[in-house]
Amino acid sequence: MCKLQLSSFISMNLADKEYLSSLEKEVIGNYVYFFSPLDKEYLSHFKDTIETLEELKKYKSWYQRIFDSKKLSEAKRIYKEEIDTIVKKISDLHKEQREEERLLYSKKTKMDKYWQLRKEIESMPQYGIWRQAVLQKFGRKCAVCGSTENLEVDHRYKSFYAITKEYGITNKVQAYGCAELWDIDNGAPLCKTHHDQTPSSRKYLQTNQKTI
Ligand SMILES: [Zn+2]
Repeated sequence: MCKLQLSSFISMNLADKEYLSSLEKEVIGNYVYFFSPLDKEYLSHFKDTIETLEELKKYKSWYQRIFDSKKLSEAKRIYKEEIDTIVKKISDLHKEQREEERLLYSKKTKMDKYWQLRKEIESMPQYGIWRQAVLQKFGRKCAVCGSTENLEVDHRYKSFYAITKEYGITNKVQAYGCAELWDIDNGAPLCKTHHDQTPSSRKYLQTNQKTI
């Protein structure tokens, strides 16, 4: 009963203050005690064991600080965990994007190199000789529709790319020494329309967004 009133004093809300002002007070040792007539009787029996107001206040304030700091550190821990998770997700995403970009770049570089090499090989006199021989063999007509317009010469059974890849051709001299590249039986004239429909043509690859 007495303790309850002492605790109420610590919380010091308005109702308590009003209540305290209506109570008797007495100085015991270094402390001032407030009490009701019933408390007075209680104190007279237990005054040696009861906690002082100051001790209760200190304890409560100490406990509150510990409690608050525990709550704060727990909140910080949870917050840090959440931040770490988000940071990790972002970093994983960036990693995936970098890997995708690297692959795309490597494919693009590879294809750019291929088209450059092909252009160089097609400018060789040897290419012109092979081309003319193929055209002559087929009577200068598209092997599919017989058209004589816009003729191109196709590497028929084994594509230009497949041959350069198989023999590891990276320059004109290597191309010059490769018999399969200049095999007349592996060539056929096609009009542009039909050449564009062959799977290894530049047009076909670009339309289908593929790389060889
Ligand atoms: Zn044709």
